[in-house]
Amino acid sequence: MPEPTQRLWLERSRLQQLLDSLGERGFEVHGPVVRDGALVLAPVRAVEELAVGWRESQAPGRYRIEQSGSERVFDVVNGPGSLKPFVFAAREPLIRVEMDGPGGGFRAHATLPEERAVAVVGVRACDLAALAVQDRVFLHDRYPDPYYAARRRGLFLVAVSCTRSASTCFCTSLDTGPEATTGFDVALSELEGGFVARAGSPAGEDLLAELALPEAPAETCVAERRALDACAEAMPRKLDPSDLPELLYDNLDHPRWDDVAERCLSCGNCTQVCPTCFCHDERDEPSLDSGHSLRVREWDSCFSLEHSYLHGMQVRSRIRDRYRQWLMHKLATWIDQFGSSGCVGCGRCISWCPVGIDLTQEVAALRERSA
Ligand code: SF4
Ligand code: SF4
Repeated sequence: MPEPTQRLWLERSRLQQLLDSLGERGFEVHGPVVRDGALVLAPVRAVEELAVGWRESQAPGRYRIEQSGSERVFDVVNGPGSLKPFVFAAREPLIRVEMDGPGGGFRAHATLPEERAVAVVGVRACDLAALAVQDRVFLHDRYPDPYYAARRRGLFLVAVSCTRSASTCFCTSLDTGPEATTGFDVALSELEGGFVARAGSPAGEDLLAELALPEAPAETCVAERRALDACAEAMPRKLDPSDLPELLYDNLDHPRWDDVAERCLSCGNCTQVCPTCFCHDERDEPSLDSGHSLRVREWDSCFSLEHSYLHGMQVRSRIRDRYRQWLMHKLATWIDQFGSSGCVGCGRCISWCPVGIDLTQEVAALRERSA
């Protein structure tokens, strides 16, 4: 068995063996593939199905993906999808209530998801950090969510440390990347010709032992370190967290909230692509024959008007209030609730905002005007 920190060398031509081994262990394997002009995590069987030779460019309100001619498998940093739907379903039934005879009684039972073994290949460090944030919320000591827990138990994660970043990334500001350091079963770093591989769990050790990989040569480990450091140093976007959350608490009436409200469409895209956002709605869906009813949970957004509806009134009727609520929760109240930032610096909300609103600029503007 390899030591957990031992670095092994996986030639690119042997990546298929890793996928096959996961499949033979009963995992449904998902990986990054190009679909509809973006990177998505989808079922894969063969390396050729992955986003080999693709590269994306991202900017506020902009996402483009194109062939680079390279042989590299994991050059596309991310797309709109993350691990979130693997553990927190976008829509799922929670409880089914059935009529119990003509007397008017009823029976209710939880509709827990079937436990499946799912391996996700190509998970980035920021998304591992986001999963840890969601674990804190959904696997809370006192209020664990059995639906989330059932999906979480079946996850096997093959991380890929980033050796290039998108212009919208700022994981280094929040210490969540670009290197995968925890929360994975196996981590890969892609270099010319292959990957440095290391295990992060007994299951990951077992998988790598089966592949009987050679130790990575010392010069390869040096090249890996250089590539990871270069990626971190080249990351252009920054978010200074040093005066957060106080900066936000001290500026509840700052004019910048009106400024951003003039640009924000309140579309909720930022919350849908965010790997940590967990706002949801629950509603009852009775059957037409009134024989049963389903209690359904589906993703919602703090940008929707209905989400802040309380006893006959909207408590956040203006866009400025909803944007402020979102940013305050991410960078301030989340810390009070869960002891960590609700943002991991993946940059998705910047790229997928149709008007290019960039939370790092909004925070900088609040700081500038309040200085
Ligand atoms: S707030 Fe934006 S940058 Fe932060 S984790 Fe969510 S999508 Fe990523
Ligand atoms: S910040 Fe952008 S993505 Fe988010 S609700 Fe406003 S317009 Fe939509």
